[in-house]
Amino acid sequence: MAVPQNRVTRSRRNMRRAHDALVAANPAECPNCGELKRPHHVCASCGTYDSREVIAQAAEVDLDEDAA
Ligand SMILES: [Zn+2]
Repeated sequence: MAVPQNRVTRSRRNMRRAHDALVAANPAECPNCGELKRPHHVCASCGTYDSREVIAQAAEVDLDEDAA
């Protein structure tokens, strides 16, 4: 098994980790519903991409009607 020849100092370890930070997402506004969505992805809110519906949205369920 490979064994490190030298101890990595706190300085060198921290310099390596300086590039490990997560970058924030870059949400874009949906042109159809205005909800924030990931760029180049189908809108999870209204199911549209490039101004056309690609995911059929379920019709709104009337809970009172179902109970009867
Ligand atoms: Zn949308």
